[in-house]
Amino acid sequence: MDARSIAARLVAWHAEHQRDLPWRSAPAGFRDPYAVWVSEIMAQQTRIDTVVDYYVAWMARFPTLARLAAADQQDILKQWEGLGYYARARNLHKAARQVMVEYGGEIPANRQALLALPGIGPYTAGAILSLAFNQPQPILDGNVKRVLSRLADIDRPINDPSVVKELWRKAAAIVEAAEPGAAGACNEALMELGALICTPANSRCLICPLHAPAAAPLCLAADRGVQGERPIMPKRKPTPHYDVAAGVIWQGAPYESRLLIAQRAQDGMLGGLWEFPGGKLEAGDADLPACLRREIDEELGFSIQVGEPLITVEHAFTHFRITLHAFHARHAAGEPRAIDCADWRWVTLDELDGFPFPVTDQKIIAALRQGAVSANNAPAVG
Ligand code: SF4
Repeated sequence: MDARSIAARLVAWHAEHQRDLPWRSAPAGFRDPYAVWVSEIMAQQTRIDTVVDYYVAWMARFPTLARLAAADQQDILKQWEGLGYYARARNLHKAARQVMVEYGGEIPANRQALLALPGIGPYTAGAILSLAFNQPQPILDGNVKRVLSRLADIDRPINDPSVVKELWRKAAAIVEAAEPGAAGACNEALMELGALICTPANSRCLICPLHAPAAAPLCLAADRGVQGERPIMPKRKPTPHYDVAAGVIWQGAPYESRLLIAQRAQDGMLGGLWEFPGGKLEAGDADLPACLRREIDEELGFSIQVGEPLITVEHAFTHFRITLHAFHARHAAGEPRAIDCADWRWVTLDELDGFPFPVTDQKIIAALRQGAVSANNAPAVG
C-alpha cells in the first residue's frame, strides 16, 4: 500500500470537497477538542443530518466542558432526548467532570489519558488527537473500515479480530504518512471519502481521488473489479422480537388526575430516562393486561386496574425489536415504591415536558395529548 500517495491525495481532495458542518469551523487538526469530542460521540451510530441540529442545540446549552460538567444529568439527558444510545450522554457528563477534577478542565492531548475517560475508546481518542491536536493517531470508524478494506481488497469478514487489527495498522500507516500538519485533514478525509464517495451501496470509483492507473493501482478492490463485494460483512443473526406492555397509570379519573412515571435504573439500557412503567410479556402471563399488572407489582409494588389500549409502537433497538402496547390504567391499591426502578413520580400531563423520555414513550405522550384535545377523551379504565 502506497500510504504516502494515498495520504497526499486524500488531503488534497479533502481541501476541496469536505462538507460544511457546524463543528468544522476551524481546519481539521486545529479544532476545539471539546467540540471534536461532542461531535464525534454524537455521530456514533447516528446519521450526520440528525447530528447537526442536536450538536448546535447542545453547544448553545453547554458551550464549554466546564458548563457540561456543572450541569444536572437530567438536563443533559433532556438535551440528548431522541438521539438514542443514552450511555453516550451519561459518559460525556462523567468524563467532563473527571477532566475538571484531574486536568483542571483541559482535555488531555494524550492517548492513554483519553482512553481512561468514560466513553472514550480508540476511535474517539484518535479523532480528538488528530482533529484537535493534529497528532498522527489513527481512527477507524465504519466508513474508514469500508474504505480500507476496499483499498487492501480484504476478503475476510470485517469484524474478524485479525482484520480489525490489520485495518488499524493500515489506518496508522496512512495518517503517519501525511505531511506534517496534515494528520487531522488526512483522517477526516478518510471518513469523508467513506461518507461521500466510497459508500456502502455504491463506490463512485471514477471520481474517487484514490482511483489510479492500472499500472500503479492504489485501490486493489477497484483494480480487480471487486469493490462491490468488499467489505465482507459478518452474517447477521435473526433479531429477536418482544411484546412489551406499558401503563399510563392515572391516580384517579383519566385526564383529570395525575399519572405515574418511573425512572429507569442508572446502569441499565436507557439509564436515567423516565418511562411509563411496564415490561416484557412472559410465557406465564395470560395476556398483556396481566403482564402489565405483574410488572407494576414487581417494579413499583402496587396494584392497578388495566383499561383501554392507548397506542401500539413498533421500535427497533440495536439487538432486538419491540412492539410496545400502551394501556390506560388506574391506581387500585398500595403506595408506589421504587423496587425495580430508580424513582417514580405522580405528574400532570404538562409536567411531562420537564423529563427526558425514550422515543417510544414520547410517542405515548403524543397519543395522550391527542386524546386530551379530543372531545371524547375519557377512556374506560377498569
Ligand atoms: S477507488 Fe472505488 S473502491 Fe477504491 S476507495 Fe475509491 S471509491 Fe472506494
